[in-house]
Amino acid sequence: KVRVRFAPSPTGGLHLGGVRTALFNYLFARHHGGDFILRIEDTDQTRFVPGAEEYILECLAWCGIKIDESPVNEGNFGPYRQSERKPSYRAYAEELVKKGHAFYAFDSTEELEEQRKLFPNFKYNFENRLSLRNSLSLSEEETQKLLAENHPHTIRIKMPDNESVYFDDLIRGRVSFETSLLDDKVLLKADGMPTYHLAVVVDDKAMEISHVFRGEEWLPSSPIHILLWTYFGWKEQMPQWAHLPLILKPDGNGKLSKRDGDRLGFPVYAMNWQDPKTGDLTKGFRELGFLPEAFVNMLGVLGWNDGTEQEIFSMEELIAKFSVERIHKAGAKFDFEKAKWFNHEWIKNTADEDLLPQIKAVLTENSVNDGQFSDEYVLQIISLVKERLTFVEDFWEQANFFFTAPKDFDVSAIKPKWTAEKTQFFNEVIAEFSGLAEWNASGLESHFKNKINGAGLKIGEFMMPLRIMLVGGKFGPDVFQIVEKLGKQEVISRIQYGLD
Ligand code: GLU
Repeated sequence: KVRVRFAPSPTGGLHLGGVRTALFNYLFARHHGGDFILRIEDTDQTRFVPGAEEYILECLAWCGIKIDESPVNEGNFGPYRQSERKPSYRAYAEELVKKGHAFYAFDSTEELEEQRKLFPNFKYNFENRLSLRNSLSLSEEETQKLLAENHPHTIRIKMPDNESVYFDDLIRGRVSFETSLLDDKVLLKADGMPTYHLAVVVDDKAMEISHVFRGEEWLPSSPIHILLWTYFGWKEQMPQWAHLPLILKPDGNGKLSKRDGDRLGFPVYAMNWQDPKTGDLTKGFRELGFLPEAFVNMLGVLGWNDGTEQEIFSMEELIAKFSVERIHKAGAKFDFEKAKWFNHEWIKNTADEDLLPQIKAVLTENSVNDGQFSDEYVLQIISLVKERLTFVEDFWEQANFFFTAPKDFDVSAIKPKWTAEKTQFFNEVIAEFSGLAEWNASGLESHFKNKINGAGLKIGEFMMPLRIMLVGGKFGPDVFQIVEKLGKQEVISRIQYGLD
């Protein structure tokens, strides 16, 4: 059975790359009818940030990623927080010591500091491990004595000095590593917590994970993991790995980092993140006005395509079409303009009714009282301006005049030659409009234009003043649609105001 996991460390808000990793795992799982698991990798207590786990759960829910097993929805493989699995790890590390693939290291922090000072490129490895303080350099008695005294110690992997380790990555094919370049990584820390390397292997095995999609930055860790799978005798059950291409800065120059958001003028977090310690707020896509559908679509094609020109995909389509073969090897440049385009397209394609709640929130934010306008009216306006929105918030800029009369404009100043004749014309329009029994865009348009033509005037000289009196500027949808929607009384009062 396909079982994948998204295994973030709760150290802060989720960055685009993190959400994409979650998404690709999810798409793969759903495509194959498998399970998507959330495991919280919180073994590094120094980096733990309160609120981060809640953020991750909320973020995945916002994206529409449904989690089959998680700390708040346990399956048969719990607990789903590594800190809660702490008691299980020591035995695994000790098993490796017994098998001769790991050792107890008693070196104090100060001693290791000293080594680093002496040798700037210090690495704990085959070249120097016999001169350091560990169960390989000490006698069996000395080792047992230190252990019996509870002397602080870690357990380190005994990295072979000269082996080639390789595996077949689902995206990049065969990847190999020379162990001579690697060091004796800590597996179990002095506080009894496992390091990432030990925990990830033990838990992927325990949770019967079949496939792992993770960021390319984890590729250098994979040889350590392969060795651990091998040493435990689990090699047959090792998941298949796929290391996802990096998400690059817009100019392709390096990885998009958490700090780039402020510098480049767009968010890199999925949702707003407030650092609980500093109180600093980092802006997110959700709060900026992205629809989750657009956000997911944009991430889904960041490093993947379906082989056609198609760009717009719903979650269902992504699930149906997802294939590992079509994940790119090269890094994917992040393009914020393109991200905005996705949002624009999704707003256009979303049913008016589905946008209504968010649009009503925008109205409330702009001091339009709830209930002042009927849903029916708001829906009509949504359908008129929807095509012009990049963000839902743009609705106010594009449509405020449907809800409140513009005050700050001067028709005579905007038109180069305002004449008494024009004032006269608009006064007649007011009179005639008052008497009209029918009030619809096309009828009003022909009435207005016929009147201009009949008087031998130029249409162009009257359309813009009319628009400005109704809208307050030279923008907006078709002016007679506006006349129709505003209704007779409002139109007359705005023209009157414009003439005064
Ligand atoms: N805990 C790691 C992270 O924070 C997970 C890496 C992996 O998926 O193996 O990204």
